[in-house]
Amino acid sequence: MKKSCIIIGAGLSGLTAAHELIKNNWEVIVLDKGRGVGGRMATRRAGEARFDHGAQYFSTKTTDFQSFTQNIIQKNIAKEWHLQEGDKTFSHARVVGTNGMNSIAKLLAEGLNIKTNEKVIRISETQNGCNVLTEAGNFYEANALICTAPAPQTIELLQKSEIAFEDSETLQSIHYQPCIAVMVSLKAQTNIPSPGGMSLEGSNISWVADNFQKGISPVFSATIHANPVFSLAHFENDLNQIGHQLLSEVTDLIPADSVESYQVHRWRYSLASERYPESFLASNSTKFPLIFAGDGFGIGNIEGAYISGKSAAQHLLV
Ligand SMILES: Cc1cc2nc3c(=O)[nH]c(=O)nc-3n(C[C@H](O)[C@H](O)[C@H](O)COP(=O)(O)OP(=O)(O)OC[C@H]3O[C@@H](n4cnc5c(N)ncnc54)[C@H](O)[C@@H]3O)c2cc1C
Repeated sequence: MKKSCIIIGAGLSGLTAAHELIKNNWEVIVLDKGRGVGGRMATRRAGEARFDHGAQYFSTKTTDFQSFTQNIIQKNIAKEWHLQEGDKTFSHARVVGTNGMNSIAKLLAEGLNIKTNEKVIRISETQNGCNVLTEAGNFYEANALICTAPAPQTIELLQKSEIAFEDSETLQSIHYQPCIAVMVSLKAQTNIPSPGGMSLEGSNISWVADNFQKGISPVFSATIHANPVFSLAHFENDLNQIGHQLLSEVTDLIPADSVESYQVHRWRYSLASERYPESFLASNSTKFPLIFAGDGFGIGNIEGAYISGKSAAQHLLV
């Protein structure tokens, strides 16, 4: 009989883990509480405008991730976002989704058994492994479990679960920065210099991007990311006011009279700023294999999520 695994989270780490297990003849089900796949590799639409409002781009350091990236570039799902000579913010090539970052996750999701709108609220041990209960009242069973939710969400889930839980301290040492993102629909092009993305220093804003120049939006649109200090201080404030304030700080790049409308999204967990040094953590508390993975483990960011998902799955294969 095939071995089976439940994967919590259809972000890059969960999707990568799923492929690795399926390749090795495992039965896999991926559960995600979101409406779609991709997690923080998120692309939103408003009318014709398109915005990457989570991850903006990624770079590649390891050979394995480089070959994954080459593969999706060949399939035209991703492309290099070319650096501009003399622009200090672009010292090396970055890679983006051709139609937005989420399109990379959508490609990986093809052919997988994924259930969205399924928030796992309890994990229990069974004779042959584990089962999970979702908010919708559904049960799923498998021999093993990989959890790729951000560490604070994993802790909350484990606290509500009927399993021994001895990994709390390790998971508590993983921290994420919050980020408030503003998605702006525009009547005219921004003044953000080519190639359409820049870090800002000395202001409340860490990053601005022109999604039209980036090539992911057919009409003019921009994304603004507030820095972690501002995001934390204003996290619970009125979204409309936050958007207004942040826009008023970049009128040189996004003139006020070019703004048609805007939406604000709060990311409680954006970049994993303090991570567990290894690329995954195998729990010693349970009889069934329980593995924690995601960008909070290893090198972080998109590349770290990929490596973490892959190595978590490989650990199960041994
Ligand atoms: C604003 C922002 C900017 C960023 N910029 C960059 C960048 O430019 N470059 C870069 O490399 N990285 C960037 N990142 C980080 C990057 O997006 C992440 O490192 C990476 O996408 C993490 O992937 P993951 O699979 O580990 O986690 P996620 O993508 O968060 O996936 C975890 C999934 O678990 C699901 N989940 C959680 N709890 C449950 C539950 N109980 N039941 C079911 N499902 C659950 C969530 O819905 C989510 O889909 C950015 C992130 C944000 C938010």
